[in-house]
Amino acid sequence: YNAIAKGDICFNDISYTYYGSDKPVVKHLSLDIKQGEKLALLGRTGCGKSTLLQLLTRSWDPQQGSISIDGVPLPTWSEPALRNAITVVSQRVDLFNGSLRENLILAKPDATDEQFVEVLAKVGLSSLLDDNGLDTWLGDGGRHISGGERRRIGIARALLHDAPILLLDEPTEGLDRRTEQQILTLLLEFAKDKTVLFITHRLVGLGSMDQICLMDEGEIIEYGQHQQL
Ligand code: ATP
Ligand code: MG
Repeated sequence: YNAIAKGDICFNDISYTYYGSDKPVVKHLSLDIKQGEKLALLGRTGCGKSTLLQLLTRSWDPQQGSISIDGVPLPTWSEPALRNAITVVSQRVDLFNGSLRENLILAKPDATDEQFVEVLAKVGLSSLLDDNGLDTWLGDGGRHISGGERRRIGIARALLHDAPILLLDEPTEGLDRRTEQQILTLLLEFAKDKTVLFITHRLVGLGSMDQICLMDEGEIIEYGQHQQL
């Protein structure tokens, strides 16, 4: 299946146990996220939140149950189509030794320099262009990149990739409050029409979510709107 995804997500009674473990980390979990809907996922450390995202991106397949996008089971999706359907922004943004352009281009191989410059302005990174434009060197021996700048590069990549599904795995972990607020505002504005699954330990941004789920030991134990919880 090689279509352009719309962004309906369905986890149907899935269970997952890591190889070599005897304890499932996800247990009979069902969750529906409709196209354009925003869902926050909260829960203690180790309860299985990131694992759930990895199952959706097919890093692993559940031993039981099925996951589908737009009603089509994940194993039926071609790998490139699935990659185009989903963007992940996590607390880790991997930069490699290379130019600024090289660090962005994987997100959108056909992007023009103008598009890179535009997106850098949007995420507040225009100053990175001061040294040597898009040829500014990042990584070893290159320009020093702060934690906040690194995160903004991750967001620039997400904006370029422009997929219908946005998975946020604690995207502002370790940032100061002001930067956190700025980055979340930027991400949520960008994601207005997208399907969002937002993993967080904090309260910032929950007001923009349609649903809030509480996960514990591999299960969804509570489900509701911001005001109810
Ligand atoms: P946090 O809030 O700390 O990020 P989480 O809810 O995202 O936690 P997961 O990363 O999904 O939790 O991990 C769930 C459980 O699975 C943990 O007990 C963890 O040790 C285990 N686990 C995670 N990744 C692997 C792996 N690759 N191999 C084996 N066990 C793993
Ligand atoms: Mg996690």
